[in-house]
Amino acid sequence: MKDYIEKDAWCIIEKNFHPEYQRMSESLFSLGNGRMGQRGNFEEQYSGDSMQGNYVAGIYYPDKTRVGWWKNGYPEYFAKVLNAPNWIGIDVFVEDEALDLAKCKVANFTRILNMRKGYLKRSFIAKMSSGIDLKVHTKRFLSIVDDDCGVIRFSITPLNADARITLVPYIDADVKNEDANYDEKFWDVVEKKAHEKEAYITARTKKLDFHVCCGMMYEVYRNGMRSDFVSEGSMKEKYVAGKTSLDVRQGERIDMLKYTAVLSSINHQKDSLPDHAREALENITAKGFDKMLEEQIAAWKKKWERSDIVIKGDIAAQQGIRFNIFQLNQTYTGEDERLNIGPKGFTGEKYGGSTYWDTEAYCLPFYLSSAPEEVARKLLLYRYRHLQKAIENAEKLGFKNGAALYPMVTMNGEECHNEWEITFEEIHRNGAIAYAIYDYIRYTGDWEYLTDYGLEVLIAISRFWSQRVNFSEAKQQFVMLGVTGPNEYENNVNNNWYTSRIACWTMRYTIEAIEFVKNEHPEKLSSLMAKTNFDESVETDYWKEIVENMFFPEDDKKGIFLQQEAFLDKVIKAVTAIPREELPINQHWSWDRILRSCYIKQADVLQGLYFFEDEFKEEVIRRNYDFYEPLTVHESSLSPCIHAILAAKLSYEEKAYDLYLRTARLDLDDYNNDTEDGCHITSMAGTWMSVVYGFGGMRVKKDVLNFNPFIPVQWESYDFKILFREKLIRINVDRKNVMISNFSEQTISIFVFGDEYKIEAQGKLSLKMSRS
Ligand code: BGC
Repeated sequence: MKDYIEKDAWCIIEKNFHPEYQRMSESLFSLGNGRMGQRGNFEEQYSGDSMQGNYVAGIYYPDKTRVGWWKNGYPEYFAKVLNAPNWIGIDVFVEDEALDLAKCKVANFTRILNMRKGYLKRSFIAKMSSGIDLKVHTKRFLSIVDDDCGVIRFSITPLNADARITLVPYIDADVKNEDANYDEKFWDVVEKKAHEKEAYITARTKKLDFHVCCGMMYEVYRNGMRSDFVSEGSMKEKYVAGKTSLDVRQGERIDMLKYTAVLSSINHQKDSLPDHAREALENITAKGFDKMLEEQIAAWKKKWERSDIVIKGDIAAQQGIRFNIFQLNQTYTGEDERLNIGPKGFTGEKYGGSTYWDTEAYCLPFYLSSAPEEVARKLLLYRYRHLQKAIENAEKLGFKNGAALYPMVTMNGEECHNEWEITFEEIHRNGAIAYAIYDYIRYTGDWEYLTDYGLEVLIAISRFWSQRVNFSEAKQQFVMLGVTGPNEYENNVNNNWYTSRIACWTMRYTIEAIEFVKNEHPEKLSSLMAKTNFDESVETDYWKEIVENMFFPEDDKKGIFLQQEAFLDKVIKAVTAIPREELPINQHWSWDRILRSCYIKQADVLQGLYFFEDEFKEEVIRRNYDFYEPLTVHESSLSPCIHAILAAKLSYEEKAYDLYLRTARLDLDDYNNDTEDGCHITSMAGTWMSVVYGFGGMRVKKDVLNFNPFIPVQWESYDFKILFREKLIRINVDRKNVMISNFSEQTISIFVFGDEYKIEAQGKLSLKMSRS
């Protein structure tokens, strides 16, 4: 745990420079706009410990797989999000001495991420060895309006003497990934130009030949007035820069405005990139920094109007949830269906920036409720476009007839994970992709999606499940052998309850979906059957047989579902029996000891009870929760949120709050001692779910929103907004009342505490708190 970030409702604030936490701060102060993102690195030179990171969405490198022992079926490469050319750099020299916070004395340091307005600023006084004190202010943002562009205002005032100050704004393509498997550099330079007050560099990635062009234009102001200045361009092998030297009077303020455009071959013809970069730069320089900032603030205001959660009486919780929402909005905007959400977003290299089941199981609900429908739809279309690759992936492993196994980790639809117990066995991910289709349609009512895209994916996934099970003569039932459930602290187990459950659910749902399309659009079903060579009666009969005769491990005495058949052979002891100094077990125990232990990394049976809660009586959910929660170490950031939602459902309110806090401030307080690698973006969506599904008790049932809220004793009130079928609704809960406001122009029906109400257009409903 670390406690150096100031508590504030709208800002993330570091007061006084903490070089020992610089990597962690760089993660926390990351900026992104869906198109690109970067860690909170300094503009000026910094020779202290730091991890540089600039990322362009969709640009990756297939780094040759590195494993100890090759297994047939392993992918050839691991896709890595690339550290892209660094465009924020502005070197500063004061009478030839470089400004470097690792070398000079630093006073009055503050770094602020303003989440309401979407910018990062920094101020400090640097005491140079020459005796000159330099006051510095910086402000930068990645525009969510001109989303190919970023801009920096770097302001300097010599406080106690006149000084000759040299500014070197640059773009550096000589960058590398810290996690490169073979320590290679991934970029070559194609073209570069450095003119008087502008410069461009186009770099190409090795192997896949993605091109990225970064361009910059810069201006100088003296005491706020635009000033003429002389600048000369310069170039090195993978670097372009400008250089201007200015005589600055004591107390005079110099601002350098650096406008940057970052464009990639994902969106433009390669040979037109420099022209487009120039166009983008001309557009933003004509607008100017202040106007761009004004537009940025207005655009963020709109995002907050739809997605904010306000918590009164608990500043730490307020800051935590806003930080989560801010990062989610910075990471994915739903403008491009080729993009997805990496577990670290644009805040670090870990997990390669690739797509995991996290998107469907954890992130989708946030985007469903806080953005127009097409944003979540694009997340689904991403997988639809990868269907052929998922079929090929399954074929590689020996499956046939259009069975699809979606990858555990991917950039382009191909699997790039390479640990057999996960790549081949953690197949429950396939179910999450099917579940997301159901979740999306249930929330939006967009049945067209099912007909046009969803059903094809469902059929392919069901085909996989039907081939992955086998009939056990001994049990006279279908079984699923050799799997890894969501709890990765057990591998290669037989009959993981969750995996078998989601497999059967998928086959059942696919049959229902076929019926729907047959009734509503028979012609579309016929063409899909022809396209997929689908023999409806033979295949669905077999699926029904599996669903009816599947083996699910259970323990009648305890009245629980078993995580896997042999789970109760383990020594069962609560996590509280583990000495504190041995936690987290993944950093203290051998892997062998972990695998044989009863300790659970993340929700597994409970993940199933969360997804399918309507299929189980509350007492069944409670018995399983009471059994599994004490055994769960929550060593995946995806875990506490699911437990928090179930705890809230079961009225374990204190527990729900404790689990919520663990996720909400996971990165700000560095609970897991790993924020320096990047923020846990996908678990941030889980935090949002803990409030809306957990405390708010929101569910969609038969096309209608249901709420069953409670308020943690630590809070005075909380409120959240959601978009449901194009209607904006606000739910406000305080100690005595629940108030629901309908901001739409239509009457809505809603269930609160189990009773139905109608709320007129622009109307409000106020009820006394009376949770059942
Ligand atoms: C979790 C997975 C998750 C991955 C990426 C792992 O630690 O066990 O469930 O998909 O992290 O977030």
